Amino acid sequence: MGRQSRLSFEFFPPREGDGISKLLSNVVPRLQAKSPAFYSVTYGAGGTTRDGTFDTVKTLIEAGHDAAPHLSIGADSEDTVVALLQRYRDIGVRRIVALRGDVPSGLGRSLRSANAQALVALIRGNFGDYFQLEVAAYPEIHPDATSPDSDLDYFADKVAAGANSAITQYFYSPYAYYDFRERCSRRGLDLPIHVGIMPITGVESIVRFSAKAGADIPRWMLKKLDSLAHDDEAVRDFGCDVCTRLCEDLHAEGAPGFHFYTLNRWGATRRIVDRLSFL
Ligand code: FAD
Repeated sequence: MGRQSRLSFEFFPPREGDGISKLLSNVVPRLQAKSPAFYSVTYGAGGTTRDGTFDTVKTLIEAGHDAAPHLSIGADSEDTVVALLQRYRDIGVRRIVALRGDVPSGLGRSLRSANAQALVALIRGNFGDYFQLEVAAYPEIHPDATSPDSDLDYFADKVAAGANSAITQYFYSPYAYYDFRERCSRRGLDLPIHVGIMPITGVESIVRFSAKAGADIPRWMLKKLDSLAHDDEAVRDFGCDVCTRLCEDLHAEGAPGFHFYTLNRWGATRRIVDRLSFL
């Protein structure tokens, strides 16, 4: 039997009133068929989706799924964050994706001092080893980093504070991942680094997202996407081919698992996962 691969699927908290029930009835069953280890639910910048994230996680757990909230300190006090973590513990959450989070415009740069390492330390200080803590990793270097080495310093700090495993920002060049893993290994950082996968469903959206996230779209892909931009189906086919190949290559090279940024849709993610030979 081949090596196991961990699968997880990310949602954002739905904005519409019946969004959570729609997610549960339309999207989750299609993804659940692939036996994910957990679903994660994002946290709006500065705590703007605090209730939405909690409600979505609670609904998933009540339906019998393993669900992990994303969490950042943002503008909240430590007491507020600890109280929220207690509520999560009370409903059976065992895993947190611990982040600095993106700072919403208007809240100022002072929040930058509250980085993910501080949150990991806060959680470990208050809850010991109760939660499995996932942190973000940036094989293509975080946009705020002054150098690859300083970026790795921040990552190492999160690990030293008690992170159990990492999930990467998405990328389309597997070499970025191999390089990051090697640099981690040289620093003695041997935690599992799961690969974030962003399915491609539209040219304009992936270009916009990637510019914001600091994710690189290789030139050959951009040229190809541009040439297909008039044909939505061809874009989706190409995107599926690229992501399938990426997962296959990374799995063959030892990547421990894949985290799909589903954007609350199942089609593109399911199409890729269905084609993976190692699942
Ligand atoms: P950190 O690890 O604290 O920092 C990231 C990098 O920023 C560091 O490596 C370093 O280069 C630089 N940096 C940090 N602190 C300092 C400092 N004091 N001085 C100088 N440089 C510094 N965003 C959301 O808003 N909500 C989400 O739910 C969410 N989910 C995510 C899930 C995953 C898997 C990933 C990869 C990203 C997610 N993000 C989310 C985006 C993330 O919040 C942003 O990338 C954010 O800018 C950094 O968060 P972090 O936890 O990686 O921060």
